[in-house]
Amino acid sequence: MMKLPVYLDNHSTTPVDKRVVEAMLPYFTEHFGNAASRHHSFGWQAEVAVEHARKVLARSVNAEPKEIIFTSGATEANNLALKGIAESLRGKGRHIITSKTEHRSVLDVCGVLEKSGYRVTVVDVDRYGIVHPETIREAMTDETILVSVMMANNEIGTLAPISEIGRLCLERGVLLHTDATQSLGKIPIDVQALNIHLMSMSAHKIYGPKGVGALYVRAQNPRVQLTQQMDGGGHERGMRSGTMNVPAIVGFGVAVEIACEEMTKESVRVGGLRDRLEKMLLSVDSASRNGHPSNRLYNNLNVTFPYVRADGLMAKLKKDAAFSSGSACSSADLEAGHASHVLTAIGVDEDAARNTIRIGLGRFTTQEEIDFAGAKIVEAVNNIRSQSPQYAIENKEKNHGAVVS
Ligand code: PMP
Repeated sequence: MMKLPVYLDNHSTTPVDKRVVEAMLPYFTEHFGNAASRHHSFGWQAEVAVEHARKVLARSVNAEPKEIIFTSGATEANNLALKGIAESLRGKGRHIITSKTEHRSVLDVCGVLEKSGYRVTVVDVDRYGIVHPETIREAMTDETILVSVMMANNEIGTLAPISEIGRLCLERGVLLHTDATQSLGKIPIDVQALNIHLMSMSAHKIYGPKGVGALYVRAQNPRVQLTQQMDGGGHERGMRSGTMNVPAIVGFGVAVEIACEEMTKESVRVGGLRDRLEKMLLSVDSASRNGHPSNRLYNNLNVTFPYVRADGLMAKLKKDAAFSSGSACSSADLEAGHASHVLTAIGVDEDAARNTIRIGLGRFTTQEEIDFAGAKIVEAVNNIRSQSPQYAIENKEKNHGAVVS
């Protein structure tokens, strides 16, 4: 039986996989120890579990366990990376480069850094959302200490040329941070091959629990040193004080293990469903896709339906399908009437941006759900347009060349 509404907002968050929940459960009750308790078996057990998760996560991105710092999520990891590097390299330079389509937890941190005396260049992306290495090269100065470019965009799914950007940063002796929140577990990631120095990750986008994430910090070639942003008991080798969320970290480890094991199979299956849905939605008159046609996350679909406000469409379909008009993290902005900064950065005008929906398919999405939700969306779009005087007038004009006075 299909459960309604169909969940199609997996870029926002994902349900926790039952295998992950199973693995976490004992760490709430029998194995409840504090991983920092050094003098009894409760602490040791918790520490063993945390270290196992650290090893699994490190292996999944070709890092060393000691290069992983657990955090409360990717927002904290982004804050730690940017503020931590800005502070530790303050003497070397005060210039940071990022891009227009980054997540708010990167852009807002850059805003804060600007207020405290750093210079930030926010480079343009092309119409698909790709950050070209050349634009980064042009923005680099002798003062540049860090480049931060996300691996996959959370609204349009576009994948960045991280490998080329990594090579450029290596050449120029500049550190590269990437926000891999949406790409972890979906595409193969090798921090060595990609020359990444810092990388943010989060569990709840890969069927793990909310409130846990990690920052990869390179320990060799070069050894990256950052200033901690949370002081206290000295956990995580002083980089992030605070009692570790053991059940969540265990869940993160299992989630990443499953995601990597099932990556190929899942990308083929879910990618097929995405293409099926895309075909249905793009069959609507004047509908268009945002993001790169092929170089994007297999589960992403971002579509503009002219004349149809996304909020009206979502409200109309609230019992049938759950999707969004952009990032949940920027929803306050969207509610305040601002168009998505990602869409405007790729040249979608503000009006069209408000007529745009973001769909994220996931591990538990079925073909039955896609066929149902696709048909409902198409029906609702046509229905809303049939009641739109503007649509009637402008399309009559387009079709028949009639002049409307
Ligand atoms: N970066 C990106 C690209 C994201 O999609 C998100 C989640 N919307 C975050 C960072 C923030 O992650 P978290 O919820 O773990 O803080």
